[in-house]
Amino acid sequence: MRPLTVIGNWKMNGSFASNADWVKTVCRGMEQGMPAGRKYVVCAPAPYLSQCGGLIRDCSLAFLSLGAQDVSAYSAGAYTGDIAASMLKELDCAYVIVGHSERRQYHQEVDEQVAEKALQVLDNGMIPVICVGESADERNSGREVEVVRGQISKQVAILQDRLADCLIAYEPVWAIGTGKVASAEIAQDMHRAIRLQLAEFNEDVASHVGILYGGSVKPDNAVELFAMPDIDGGLIGGASLNPQDFLAICQA
Ligand code: PGA
Repeated sequence: MRPLTVIGNWKMNGSFASNADWVKTVCRGMEQGMPAGRKYVVCAPAPYLSQCGGLIRDCSLAFLSLGAQDVSAYSAGAYTGDIAASMLKELDCAYVIVGHSERRQYHQEVDEQVAEKALQVLDNGMIPVICVGESADERNSGREVEVVRGQISKQVAILQDRLADCLIAYEPVWAIGTGKVASAEIAQDMHRAIRLQLAEFNEDVASHVGILYGGSVKPDNAVELFAMPDIDGGLIGGASLNPQDFLAICQA
């Protein structure tokens, strides 16, 4: 059985004061009892990882972990401004998002680079959350499966069997931050397509890998999405900023 994983992605939001309130509120809520066997992650901006790591350690809930939003494709060296996977590991990160559509769009990240980042994350004992997804134009012209297949095939080519230790996040770009959530059926269809594609490569990898949905997940649509057989959780942007909404999605 693949565990349900809910990941909050704060993006470029937060402050020392609001982060402390958020973690305390979520910890207090989770201490009241959570559905068994699930995993919860909060991906804070890099400058706050140390603070959030400390706060999460203090509440010592085994199912709540820290994650980062990006990482360098290199292990060390002259890469001004970049952050190595080994550094994120030292900050207590257990998960790292790679290839988010905002990185692809604003920083021109390409699939090969995303896979190299995922390798760095794996080599440092953390779990990469590899984001894929089509744009509105690509879906409107009926090319959504072809586009996502192309993204996944680059990951397979570089990561091979190690994909079994990754999470994939299907995030249709048209659903991110727009309030236009993919219907549970549309999301399930793409998750199924991804799993079938992985099975062409290796049945074991396909059955192990968790595939999360991301894009305008809210407390009121999470239940239906998470009930789908190939949806193994969610990557939550906007709604993760409100601790009560994040808690509600975690309990969905
Ligand atoms: P959203 O973002 O939930 O605000 O749509 C999701 C994401 O970008 O990970």
